[in-house]
Amino acid sequence: DRGEAFKSAFNREVGKRVGKMTGGEVSFERPDVQFLIDPEADTVECSNHSAFVYGRYRKLERDIPQTKWPCNACQGSGYIGQQQCEKCDGVGLLYETSVEQLTAPVVCDVMDGTETSFHGAGREDVDARMLGTGRPFVIEVFEPRRRDVNTVRLEGDINAFAEDMVEVTGLRLATYNIVEWVKELDASKRYRAVVSFDERVDEDAFTQAVSSLENSSIEQRTPRRVSHRRADITRTREVYQMGGELHTPTKAVVDIHTAGGLYIKELISSDEGRTEPSLAELLEVSATVNKLDVTGVYGESAPFEKDTLFRDDRIVESPTQVSPQSSE
Ligand SMILES: [Zn+2]
Repeated sequence: DRGEAFKSAFNREVGKRVGKMTGGEVSFERPDVQFLIDPEADTVECSNHSAFVYGRYRKLERDIPQTKWPCNACQGSGYIGQQQCEKCDGVGLLYETSVEQLTAPVVCDVMDGTETSFHGAGREDVDARMLGTGRPFVIEVFEPRRRDVNTVRLEGDINAFAEDMVEVTGLRLATYNIVEWVKELDASKRYRAVVSFDERVDEDAFTQAVSSLENSSIEQRTPRRVSHRRADITRTREVYQMGGELHTPTKAVVDIHTAGGLYIKELISSDEGRTEPSLAELLEVSATVNKLDVTGVYGESAPFEKDTLFRDDRIVESPTQVSPQSSE
């Protein structure tokens, strides 16, 4: 009808003129900046949509959470009533820093935004390092005044700021749908665990146990350590690959490649029979993970670095699942 005809002619005309004035490209789909014009009320509303930076992070130190972790005693305020919170010494955080705090402020600053949001492709335990391929993440910058930033320089800026605690690689400018992609894509993981046993373990028994876990299906009931915040269910997850070396009769290093969602500490310890089979059960000893590193994160059905989700031309190789095991 006429209203529609006027509307589209009006939109086209405004688009043409604003495009000419700003040198910007006109888009009626998902523009960076959107104007809502109401000729009747004589108002113009402007929304400056978020910008997205994709990359992979390595966490080189333990005891750094992925995102800001507010103190649960004072709800992050640092105070309980008039008193300084004793649990966090008034800082308001349980952990002094996080991957988010070591990266996002730099991106926010360079893009001149108002705020940021950190989106990770899953997260490792706070006490686990993230090495090897790194873990995909997206930093969303709200109301950015700069979008076309140099990602190589940004990478250098972040790595200088994060001072060897965190390192980012392969930064790219991405479209808004990268967030859902990174959060929803199923990922397999590679781990390295330092394991200790409470009794001496025989070399042959160890080799046999490790190889019998390879290519096996693990029945895992939600671990006790997370059962307060996760539903108590039993799920089945595959171990794709497993290898290891017994360094002393009571200490081993184990490398594991598994489907996402398998809890590694419990694959080793058995969690009092809640994970089956487990290394502890097969060896008939008690086994504990002393140190855990994630060494690889890979998209199961497609690589995380999907071409159509990027708005720059930077070439970044996507790590493949069959690549040789990455060491530190
Ligand atoms: Zn506190």
